[in-house]
Amino acid sequence: MSRYSLRCRVCQASGSADDRHTCAACLGPLEVVYDLGSGPRGRELRREIESGPPDLWRYRRLLPVEQPADPGAVGWTPLQRAARLGARLGLRDLYLKNDTVNPSLSFKDRVVAVAAQKAREFGYRTIACASTGNLAGAVAAAAARLGLEAVVFVPSSIEPAKLTVPRIYGARVFTVEGTYDEVNRLCAQIADDRRWAFVNFTLRPYYVEGSKTLLFETAEQLGWRLPDALVVPIASGA
Ligand SMILES: *Cc1c(COP(=O)(O)O)cnc(C)c1O
Ligand SMILES: [Zn+2]
Repeated sequence: MSRYSLRCRVCQASGSADDRHTCAACLGPLEVVYDLGSGPRGRELRREIESGPPDLWRYRRLLPVEQPADPGAVGWTPLQRAARLGARLGLRDLYLKNDTVNPSLSFKDRVVAVAAQKAREFGYRTIACASTGNLAGAVAAAAARLGLEAVVFVPSSIEPAKLTVPRIYGARVFTVEGTYDEVNRLCAQIADDRRWAFVNFTLRPYYVEGSKTLLFETAEQLGWRLPDALVVPIASGA
């Protein structure tokens, strides 16, 4: 039994962790499940994590990846005490998790780091996405780190400034006349046509796994304690 596999959220059918994103039996979404087997747990696992690299790959044992190829780029962002803002809001221990220090200035770099790593493991040469700018920047940055091509599709209504990051990181940017939903539909057709890994659907089971590192880091940075409350302004919901 390998450390992780894919399981259908609807019918529970499971299979090996390949580059499928929907269940062959019922078209339900596939999710990663882990089997930690005889690996470390509890304190032993904490110690292993604490001696890991200062990036999201310190949680590698709890992520569906083999050998991450982009050390130091994403994650392990500062958890900053915000005492004066806290006092203003009547909160004793308010912290801000500063994910703006990631390569494309947002939490999107976490999900894309895991998806891009999988794209590389599956032998894709190109990663892609539909985006209104933020995801496009993260895809472009990850492709630059890993030596992949980035192709991003954005609706033509996008503010031009949103394309600065994807362009700086060297992505091919296609502006599509249409709504974001229409851009997504176009991308689904292109994904069927070419071997491009669209991070937000071809590799979605892996992509979503990157999100949890935000909470892992928060807990570890608080001395392995969970906060009483989290405020998470996160569009994708993962
Ligand atoms: C973030 C995200 C997008 C696109 O977000 P933009 O802010 O438009 O770049 C699309 N799909 C998923 C699943 C996402 O998480
Ligand atoms: Zn199924």
